[in-house]
Amino acid sequence: MSRLIITDITTPEFAAGLKQSRTIFLPFGSTEEHGEHLPLDTDTMQVYASVKAAAAIYPTFVAPPVHYGICRSTSEHPGTVGLSPATFRALVRDLVKGYYKQGLRNFILISGHAGKTHIGALIEVGEEVLADFSDIRLAVINEYDFCCRAAGELVEVAGDSHAGEVETSRIAHLFPALVKGTSPREFPDFPEYILVRNKTAYWRGGVWGDPAFASKAKGEKLCQLTAQALADFVRRFEDFVER
Ligand SMILES: [Zn+2]
Repeated sequence: MSRLIITDITTPEFAAGLKQSRTIFLPFGSTEEHGEHLPLDTDTMQVYASVKAAAAIYPTFVAPPVHYGICRSTSEHPGTVGLSPATFRALVRDLVKGYYKQGLRNFILISGHAGKTHIGALIEVGEEVLADFSDIRLAVINEYDFCCRAAGELVEVAGDSHAGEVETSRIAHLFPALVKGTSPREFPDFPEYILVRNKTAYWRGGVWGDPAFASKAKGEKLCQLTAQALADFVRRFEDFVER
């Protein structure tokens, strides 16, 4: 295991780590419904496991995960607790600035929660801090998309995204005791273009995909492929020079 997992290291280990790497993963998750069968922390669990596994392949700092994000479509389901966009942006900004002050220069904001508003907020803050600091690199990664890209044809359900094939497989591999049975196949039917108040009327169960296609073996493969692809990304990112 990499010695750069911030929850686990001491002050002297942190200082020594800066001689090894100036790159940090800032993992973001959510506390939100994931069907009837997956834990509320699913997004955080996946992204945190991915970045720790990537950092074991290629030494990179890993910040403690943020367990809350901006949740819109799941906000009416039991158990979902989100942050307002303003609070979330302020939090992300403070974290990047805090790690900059500590000597980090390459920032990978990576989210296990794929909500559009949430990812948009990470990009917004990213643009702000790029303008503020001339000596940093910054990337924003939607970890679910990254995982699916790394997996290629391993993912069978078209349009799978939330508490379906991919997330159920990965949690079954990472935390098998936390998968409580399954949920039915479901795709929400939100109206096109129109925002709605009563979100559960358009998305009853809170699954977007089909957990029946999930398996522990698939989860293991998905986790391995994602970690390797992330480690490869970090190598490229550290060499990236802007035109
Ligand atoms: Zn999720």
